[in-house]
Amino acid sequence: MDERKRIIVIGGGFAGLQFIKNIDSALFDVLLIDKLNHHQFQPLFYQVATSQLEPANISFPFRKIFQKKENLKIRMADVESIHSEKDCVETSIGTFSYDYLVIAAGCKTNFFNNQNIEKNAFTLKSTFDSISIRNHVLLLFEEYISSKGSEKEAILNIVIAGAGPTGVEMSGAFAEIKKNILPKDYPGIDFSKLKITLVEGSPNTLNSMSTNAKSASRKYLIDLGIELKTGITVLDYENNLVKLSDGSEIKARTLIWAAGVTGNLIDGINPEIIMRGNRLKVNQLNLIDTYKNIYALGDIAYMPTSKYPNAHPQLANVAINQAKNLAKNFNRKIKSKEQKEFEYKDLGSMATIGKHKAVVDLPRFKFKGFFAWYIWMFLHLMLILSTKNKLIIFINWAWAYVTKDTSLRLILNNPKKAKKVS
Ligand SMILES: Cc1cc2nc3c(=O)[nH]c(=O)nc-3n(C[C@H](O)[C@H](O)[C@H](O)COP(=O)(O)OP(=O)(O)OC[C@H]3O[C@@H](n4cnc5c(N)ncnc54)[C@H](O)[C@@H]3O)c2cc1C
Repeated sequence: MDERKRIIVIGGGFAGLQFIKNIDSALFDVLLIDKLNHHQFQPLFYQVATSQLEPANISFPFRKIFQKKENLKIRMADVESIHSEKDCVETSIGTFSYDYLVIAAGCKTNFFNNQNIEKNAFTLKSTFDSISIRNHVLLLFEEYISSKGSEKEAILNIVIAGAGPTGVEMSGAFAEIKKNILPKDYPGIDFSKLKITLVEGSPNTLNSMSTNAKSASRKYLIDLGIELKTGITVLDYENNLVKLSDGSEIKARTLIWAAGVTGNLIDGINPEIIMRGNRLKVNQLNLIDTYKNIYALGDIAYMPTSKYPNAHPQLANVAINQAKNLAKNFNRKIKSKEQKEFEYKDLGSMATIGKHKAVVDLPRFKFKGFFAWYIWMFLHLMLILSTKNKLIIFINWAWAYVTKDTSLRLILNNPKKAKKVS
């Protein structure tokens, strides 16, 4: 390769970010296109939604992250279609040509074609979603104070669908603020009536983790006072009524949908390589092998291997390590060095349910409780970008630990434009 090649990266999530950090910018021109102007640290969305962290603590503007990266251009735009025959992408702000395309567009919420749920439920897939939940829940408590008897029940019911890590962490966080924080802010509300219901279709919470983690998380959730309904699915949500597969109904002004994700597909991709969950089939070099120059990384990549015949779990660690491997392969390719196939080293998984209540599955051993909770906090702090944000989050957590309080309960709605919460 004599002249500099141009790589377009769609998406600056965990995968896109690591790819750009590791690509040798003396060798390539890189264009990052993302519909947002910032990278989001998704694992801590639930803490923003429950007023424990500010959005800025977990959101990082791309232009700030890459101030010193040479030969990188950034465009805030939605990639609408890919034209592989012309080697270009069409976006909301124009068309861009590439020599290589890296699709790292991640996933969005899967509503399984239920339009009522899509219209009426809250999701947790962006910083904006998190702040919407925070605004909504705090506004509901304000409304509760002047509401009539018949309206009160629905306000004090929070239903969460899906007991994967997101649903479990969200439920646990609501239970903690119910106990420690909300009664101080709203002394007139009897928070023993605030009911948090977690609904899960499979028989267990944290279904992708070990038996230990499943049973420990169940116990922790029940100890925290969460109404746990496993083996039951949410069928519909309309007019503030959550309908469940066991025939029961819950009057609730809040349904948070954490029950599944599906790939952010972009028009123009060969339908033959679209696999389960709208993921794109790649080989172990992350190349979509029906093309010669289009790669997919992270959540949207479906890479079957002998160890993972149904592709890797959709985790930050997979996205980060695939991206590092691909960037290094690009750097090697230009020097005519050998390409290395991606092999995932499973470092384990973890989830936190509440203070001193977490579960950790490491490849060799599993543990829970106090120690697991500290490990969870330490590893999440390490993963967060920027020393300043690590420090701010650490101080926030330490303050909340000592005082059992936070001071982040601002409702950031425009009162003139805000509709009545529903
Ligand atoms: C609430 C929550 C909690 C989680 N907790 C954990 C955890 O504790 N541990 C863990 O390992 N994983 C966790 N995950 C999963 C983890 O966040 C994902 O595996 C990871 O983000 C995947 O990285 P990615 O780069 O593939 O996609 P993302 O990080 O989702 O990035 C995709 C990017 O692409 C952009 N984009 C999408 N479509 C377009 C388009 N058409 N045009 C332009 N830009 C586009 C998006 O704006 C986004 O910036 C969690 C996920 C969620 C939602």
